[in-house]
Amino acid sequence: MSNTEIRVRFAPSPTGYLHLGGARTALFNWLYARHVGGKFLLRVEDTDRERSTLASRQAILEGMKWLGISWDEDIVLQSERVEIHRAFVQQLLDEGKAYKCFATTEEMATMREEAFAEGRTRIYDRRWRDRTDHPNTSFTIRMKMPVEGVTIINDLVLGEITVKNDDLDDLIILRSDGSPTYNFVVVCDDHFMKVNHVVRGQDHMTNTFRQFNIYKALNYEPPKFAHLPLIDGMSKRKGSASVQLYQKNGFLAEAVVNYIARLGWSHQDQEIFSTDELIKKFDLSGVNKSSGNFDLEKMTWVNSQWMKRLPAKTIATRLLPFLQEIGIETEVDDRLILLVTSLIKRNATLVEMAKAAQFAFVAPTEYQPKAVKKWIKARSKEAFVALIDEIDALEEYTLASIQEAFTQVLATHEIKMGKVAQPVRIALTGTSMSPGIYETIAVIPQKDAVARMRKIVTMFP
Ligand code: GLU
Repeated sequence: MSNTEIRVRFAPSPTGYLHLGGARTALFNWLYARHVGGKFLLRVEDTDRERSTLASRQAILEGMKWLGISWDEDIVLQSERVEIHRAFVQQLLDEGKAYKCFATTEEMATMREEAFAEGRTRIYDRRWRDRTDHPNTSFTIRMKMPVEGVTIINDLVLGEITVKNDDLDDLIILRSDGSPTYNFVVVCDDHFMKVNHVVRGQDHMTNTFRQFNIYKALNYEPPKFAHLPLIDGMSKRKGSASVQLYQKNGFLAEAVVNYIARLGWSHQDQEIFSTDELIKKFDLSGVNKSSGNFDLEKMTWVNSQWMKRLPAKTIATRLLPFLQEIGIETEVDDRLILLVTSLIKRNATLVEMAKAAQFAFVAPTEYQPKAVKKWIKARSKEAFVALIDEIDALEEYTLASIQEAFTQVLATHEIKMGKVAQPVRIALTGTSMSPGIYETIAVIPQKDAVARMRKIVTMFP
């Protein structure tokens, strides 16, 4: 590696949210920068005034912050640089590297049809390239692309990619309304930001050929390019694929980062990576030519792994807003941490966990008839009542003392655990399914637990 600092960037066009594909591009750039000790820059491509509201820019920044992707230096707003972009267009015009094109919309339509009929990718026939007899009508400014030879991109992921220059259109760099075009401003801004590695989706490949020639025309050193494989099964347009939606659906940022890192990058057959580990192991050489399918089931599995990996206290803190969502106001205390610990194995997301945690705060209003029929039996009644009294009398209400109460009652009444534990579960949760029985009791305040149990005594035959 040379001594030049590696500078990469993420350049989203804000459209309302950060989709997973965009997040993956941001992540790969960020990981690469952090891995090599370079800089990760952020440029908001907000020239589309209608779509680029402040709110949509905010949504992208918040998505990145949630994922833990931090940027270096000031954010560059493309819209603030339009005058500079125009000056560069003028420069190319003055140098004879660009020209005014007066082709009308109708003429362009005819050229498009002809190109289509002939199976040509280049549409414009360069009719104004060398003319000086300019009419007094509206015009665009086109760049003189090379006509002969080939353009070769040595892509860091895809290898050598070649295009015949005759297939490239003389690119419009300034529209008739005076606005510079996307491909042109990207080059101006990447150069301004001293970006030397452009890492972005393969959907930009055709832009890369154009941009490469714009670099040449402006006498700029082109950056190195790395094109990331597209993610199958998850198109940009699918709203469901926004980072914010996964956040709302109870996914952990660690898991989303872990999952999207593996969309098109691999390190042996490892599946679970912490962000620190990703920074250590990520390199562009590990980027694959294809990325496989987006797979919600797999992502959910990765999330369930992260639910278990993070400290219960962290999960408890992250669970609070999800509990709030279902009307439960609480705080991170020993009881919540115990509850989280007891639920962690079975719940893959925070949404699922909040639902499963509800019993600790809210008494059941109904009891599953099937469970009642199976477990609320005459044989269990005496022991059940005795257990209520034992628990009621506990001075210290802990897992150990609750267990002790059970041991005593089971021995005295010569009855099996299930015959008492299941009625307790039903009393406390309305169902016969819950975490371990001691935990199920301990996460409910003593008085409430006792009251819930007393309430069902009359249900025994
Ligand atoms: N603004 C472009 C997009 O959101 C990306 C530009 C680039 O990476 O060069 O697709």
